[in-house]
Amino acid sequence: MPCVRKFTFTEDRMSREVIATLTTLSNGFVSIRGDPEFAESKHGALVSGVYSSTPVFYRELVNLPRAHALYLELEGAPMVPEGVKYTLDIGGGFLEINATLSSPAGRVHYSSRRFVHRVLKGLVGIRASIRSLDASGRLCVKAPVELDTTNPSVPPEVSVKLYRVVSAECRDFPTLDVETADGRYRLRIVSLAKLPGGIGGGFYATSKHVGQAACVDVSPGTSLLVERYAVFSLEPEDALRQAREAASKGFEPLLEEHRELWEREWRELGLSVEGDEDFANALLLNTFHLLQVYNDESEVFILPARGLHGYQYRGHVFWDADIYALPFYLLFKPEAARKMLEYRCKNLDAAVENARRNGYEGAQYPWESADDGFEATPREIPLDLAGQRKLRILTGELEHHITADVAYAVDLYYRFTQDREFLERCGLRILVLTARFWVSRAQWDPARGRYVIRNVIGPDEYHVGVDNNFYTNVMAKHNLELAAQYAREALADAALKERLSELHVTQEEISRWVEVSSKLEIPCKSDGLCEQFEGFFKLKDFAIEPGALGEKNLPQEVLASVQEYQVIKQADVVAAMFLLRDKFPREVLVKNYDYYIRRTTHASSLSLPMYAALALYLGRSEEGYSMLKQAALADIADVYGNTCDGFHVGSAGGVWTAILFGLLRIQPGESLSYERSASLGKVSMSFDVTYRGAKVRVSI
Ligand code: BGC
Repeated sequence: MPCVRKFTFTEDRMSREVIATLTTLSNGFVSIRGDPEFAESKHGALVSGVYSSTPVFYRELVNLPRAHALYLELEGAPMVPEGVKYTLDIGGGFLEINATLSSPAGRVHYSSRRFVHRVLKGLVGIRASIRSLDASGRLCVKAPVELDTTNPSVPPEVSVKLYRVVSAECRDFPTLDVETADGRYRLRIVSLAKLPGGIGGGFYATSKHVGQAACVDVSPGTSLLVERYAVFSLEPEDALRQAREAASKGFEPLLEEHRELWEREWRELGLSVEGDEDFANALLLNTFHLLQVYNDESEVFILPARGLHGYQYRGHVFWDADIYALPFYLLFKPEAARKMLEYRCKNLDAAVENARRNGYEGAQYPWESADDGFEATPREIPLDLAGQRKLRILTGELEHHITADVAYAVDLYYRFTQDREFLERCGLRILVLTARFWVSRAQWDPARGRYVIRNVIGPDEYHVGVDNNFYTNVMAKHNLELAAQYAREALADAALKERLSELHVTQEEISRWVEVSSKLEIPCKSDGLCEQFEGFFKLKDFAIEPGALGEKNLPQEVLASVQEYQVIKQADVVAAMFLLRDKFPREVLVKNYDYYIRRTTHASSLSLPMYAALALYLGRSEEGYSMLKQAALADIADVYGNTCDGFHVGSAGGVWTAILFGLLRIQPGESLSYERSASLGKVSMSFDVTYRGAKVRVSI
């Protein structure tokens, strides 16, 4: 099957940090970046949901101990790589690393395979084969658990350690209990190495490492096999069980089992892409990463904006999850889409509290959130150690559209799945409580006889504290309409009616939602051109070169006072229009697309997928495909220059959103229907989506 591919990366063409993101392995529970185990690295493991309190960012994913290193020393000198080749096998879900390692006493060829296991969710496994080329003397292999991993912070000189070791024992194998700095989570880490000379070798401990080491004498041609396992678990007994199972099964059978599951995963997707190698590769690699961050055993799916791949945005969840990534899961793994919404359900009380703290009614989802669902957007970023220069961040206080984004996702999920249980238990509550938020957020403006929403940040974050942002208002209106529609339908259904009465929803309240939504200001001119916010059209104009990407193309004077210009960071009017495309006539979609694309820097990786989606929806094949491809390349070609800090989940999901909803205009109904609106150049692709429990083959 053409989808089963291998990706090779070398450090002469890309930095190790970028490669480490691209070769991250995860099973949605544990995640490790692709840095080679024989080299020092500041990255340990991430465990989904394990956050700790931290300065500036409130809560962040903890950089846990590094328990997968394998260091080699020859005649007492560390062996260092001369060149590293990484081969990521996405078909089987494992990483191969090949290198020549050298020291003054000679060189060895080093070749390893690693997995983060699909079944034993806490298990990371590595097997290395080492062959002496011209190395002679005493070769020592060390397998430590490194306890000095820290989280990078701000300014860059600062780092924080977000866990402490509670106990460390070396019986059968090194076993450690660590606790997050705030005491909220406790994890057991079991390390097990099969070193030359049998299990065990010698145990050693320093102030920073606990581990095993063994030495053998080598001469040219000598070969050794080393296996190393690390288990992370929130349950101590479970960690030991997984370690014992790993030890008794051994590497090859474990890899085989893992590989089979990945192969099955790809078979279920039935994905094949042909006609443009670069696009196909990018799409497949992104799909692999989207698949691997989902843990099918978890109750909630917490999907940080940079995956479990790096520290940018500290493991926080944004609208990237609900709006950009959810559609991919909805059609390929509906259960994952549900669990993503379960994260919003679980944190609904926090959203209610968040609204209350901000002086609003109902539920207000935070712009950035971590495990506890409270606002986690930093308010101020220190730019120097003395704390004299600070960057004020206002998105947490003003970027309110996320609340409507969650409601949008609930409706999308329900329309595709008809998941009645979810609606009754949680979906309806989210719709009602978010509608209440908007009623309290909107203000009546007697002069114009409309409701207005003042002082927000829309998706375009260049313009701060604006009134009647198109995206926010249109999505808020939709949120209110959804609440009214679902509530009316619920009144005719005994169980749902019960839910409404628990929430004290009355006919009057439903009428109020309708009233506010129908009179909410939507800033559009009579010719159909909509103003991104009040006053936008009065700003200085500046046309961006077609195809230019990012802020680097802006003249300094424009960049320095970008808020004075009609220059935007990412799809805003266009995003709202694409999401609610049925509500706008085609001419309006075209007019706004044409107006805003010339004024968008696409500095956020979320922008191109939305523009591509609308272009394809409008049948503009060439420009749609060109943007789609560029969006797909975001990480594999490090388009935004920050792949080193994590995988762009929203952009990868957004590309799929553009394919499914823009290009294919996929629609739920009795059965799933789709009609292609454009072409993708020479690309042909096919895949199987899951719709209400059945597979539907889609071909382009
Ligand atoms: C974008 C947001 C996005 C966030 C996380 C920001 O740069 O403007 O829309 O949610 O990154 O990806």
